[in-house]
Amino acid sequence: MVLDRFFKFRKPPNTPPESLQVGRRTVPLLLVHHPQARRYLLRLRPDGMVRVTIPRRGTLAAARDFAARNAGWLEQQFQRLAAQPEQSAGWQIGTEILFRGEPVRIEPEADGGIRFGTERMEMPAATADLRPVIQKHLHRQAARELPLRVAELAAAHDISVNRVSVRNQKSRWGSCSRRGTISLNWRLIQAPGFVRDYIILHELAHRRQMNHSEKFWQEVARLCPNYREAERWVKQNAKLLS
Ligand SMILES: [Zn+2]
Repeated sequence: MVLDRFFKFRKPPNTPPESLQVGRRTVPLLLVHHPQARRYLLRLRPDGMVRVTIPRRGTLAAARDFAARNAGWLEQQFQRLAAQPEQSAGWQIGTEILFRGEPVRIEPEADGGIRFGTERMEMPAATADLRPVIQKHLHRQAARELPLRVAELAAAHDISVNRVSVRNQKSRWGSCSRRGTISLNWRLIQAPGFVRDYIILHELAHRRQMNHSEKFWQEVARLCPNYREAERWVKQNAKLLS
């Protein structure tokens, strides 16, 4: 009975999130097999997803049943969550964020992780607000990508750069020091490509004109003919910097 043993120890795969009716709400329901669990467990995650842990010999059908039977308890938990202090700036499952210029929704993954656009990431336990973890992920991604783009554009226009740093500035998209260090805001990964390129070219233009004179803007127009459109986007999306 070798085959039998194999199946016995194989961990059943997790299923994609389903939905569950809790009062007037339709909420994402995550069913997770857990061989060490002794009974069904129900939890309302701070991100608003309902999670049922399925014990070793449990079934999906019984797990759905268990969640539905406890809808009253879940409703109470939702009310408690809603009564907590304002979290309007927070990011949860379902929140739309900007990524590479496109609005993308934060969505749950079958393994309990999250996804937005092309990005997938693990989800730390008990996080009321996904914003800090997602921003950290975006910052890391930007730190990988932006210096490469600077190198490309600098080479294309024959401009020298000393160093590129990707930072968490609160009020600017980029800056350029006299020594040739270009600092870029990681949030540029949220902007469309032409805006990211404009900000980089703007800072590269400062390598030739360390000011915002007419000569500087002529240089910008030469390096980036559609810079006015990019400037418009930057103004319309100033709130991204907060
Ligand atoms: Zn400038």
